[in-house]
Amino acid sequence: MDEETLKFDAIVVGGGPSGMCAAYTMAKAGMDVAVIERGEYPGSKNLFGGILFTTILNKLIPNFWEEAPVERNVISRKFSYLTEDSQLAVELKTEQYNKPPYNNTFTVLRSKFDRWFSEKTESIFNENSFVFSGFTVIDVIKEGHKIIGVVTDKEGPMYADVIICAEGANSLLAEKAGLKKKPEPHDMVTGVKEVIALPSEIINDRFALAGNEGVAIEFFGKAVEGMVGGAFIYTNKESLSVGISCSIVDFTHKNINPNEVLDKFKEHPSVKNLLRGGETIEYSAHMIPEFGYDKLPDLVSHGIMLVGDSAGFVNTSHYHEGSNLAMASGVMAGETAIIAKQKGDFSAETLSLYKEKLNDSFVMKDMKNFRRAAKFLHANPQVLNDYPTTMVQSMVDYFTISERSKVEIRKDVIGGLIMDVKFIKMMWDMNKARKVLL
Ligand SMILES: Cc1cc2nc3c(=O)[nH]c(=O)nc-3n(C[C@H](O)[C@H](O)[C@H](O)COP(=O)(O)OP(=O)(O)OC[C@H]3O[C@@H](n4cnc5c(N)ncnc54)[C@H](O)[C@@H]3O)c2cc1C
Repeated sequence: MDEETLKFDAIVVGGGPSGMCAAYTMAKAGMDVAVIERGEYPGSKNLFGGILFTTILNKLIPNFWEEAPVERNVISRKFSYLTEDSQLAVELKTEQYNKPPYNNTFTVLRSKFDRWFSEKTESIFNENSFVFSGFTVIDVIKEGHKIIGVVTDKEGPMYADVIICAEGANSLLAEKAGLKKKPEPHDMVTGVKEVIALPSEIINDRFALAGNEGVAIEFFGKAVEGMVGGAFIYTNKESLSVGISCSIVDFTHKNINPNEVLDKFKEHPSVKNLLRGGETIEYSAHMIPEFGYDKLPDLVSHGIMLVGDSAGFVNTSHYHEGSNLAMASGVMAGETAIIAKQKGDFSAETLSLYKEKLNDSFVMKDMKNFRRAAKFLHANPQVLNDYPTTMVQSMVDYFTISERSKVEIRKDVIGGLIMDVKFIKMMWDMNKARKVLL
């Protein structure tokens, strides 16, 4: 680092999972790194649903769960469809996920986890590397086509050979650097979440868990008023993470705000007993990028790379994987910066190695595979609404006990289904759904 001009090898803007993975990777190689984080500490302003996917983290810091503040290891994933008064669910619960590396799926609270990860990264920093918390980056500094530094709201300018933009979904810096246009409302999802405190014994009894076992439940259909998106309940040690996330345009079309949807979800008969007696101790709202593979921004320019949510790397299918893609892209950008430093060349050509790494990895392969998922669901609302609702009602009728013979009931149920659903259209839609969603 040049102390006169505050010049580093690399500046990472944003201390979330993508930024910290980039910083950790470069710090391990001995580079001078500055992480600039607008929050009072990394994590203080951060929100997500609650499941941290950790294949990448476990490679960076083997057996990290032995020291990181994780809440629970997820042994059960449940997908639940709600109608006004009923629920149809599929649950996978397995002991195979109950031993290291715990299927690389943990519930965490970001304010604790991000802070730990930042401290862990700082512990391997050389004497010329720093985390600047409480500093907001407000602009980039250009020299011709090259990005050579950033302006913050506090210090004077800071310079670096390469800037890694890890600002998250609302990345103004990427726009200022000319890599990304302002996202359209239909490319963004809004999520709201509450943390609801409950004693761990109650959580374990209610969700059939023991010790640190956790469950992740995703809800669809009436859970989000039939919109494209979902609701969730994830178990923490002594709290539940409860929230919803849907496309911004859906809220506008339905003329309903996210808080109303969350309140209604919490009151659903299949949900309210899970939350009974809990006290809301945290509330937050945040955006998720949903522009997908076809609308990804330019990921690289001279002296800059975009990682994580600022690049739009979120798998918005039923996997709901953002953290893993964020961390993977952070590591790959860090590795690219190390090679660029060895070559003494931070041009877009050299940094485009980052794109090659992404293309060879699950990040781009998954982004590409699920690129039509959101568009398909918006264009075919019957897939998330009419078909499952009819299915649930048919099952309710099928299992309703009466004095009618089972043969009569079965005939009525099948007859009702044939009246309600156009089978050829449904088979056609489900085949399309299989192709874009699985
Ligand atoms: C409601 C919701 C639920 C989600 N659920 C899940 C889930 O369960 N599992 C999952 O894997 N993913 C989930 N995601 C997605 C996941 O949160 C993101 O993919 C992931 O956090 C991206 O990491 P990141 O480091 O790129 O960005 P972020 O985590 O957003 O971190 C960005 C950091 O940059 C800082 N920053 C921003 N601007 C500036 C600036 N100008 N100057 C300095 N610092 C700045 C912020 O304070 C923040 O610390 C969810 C997202 C939301 C909104």
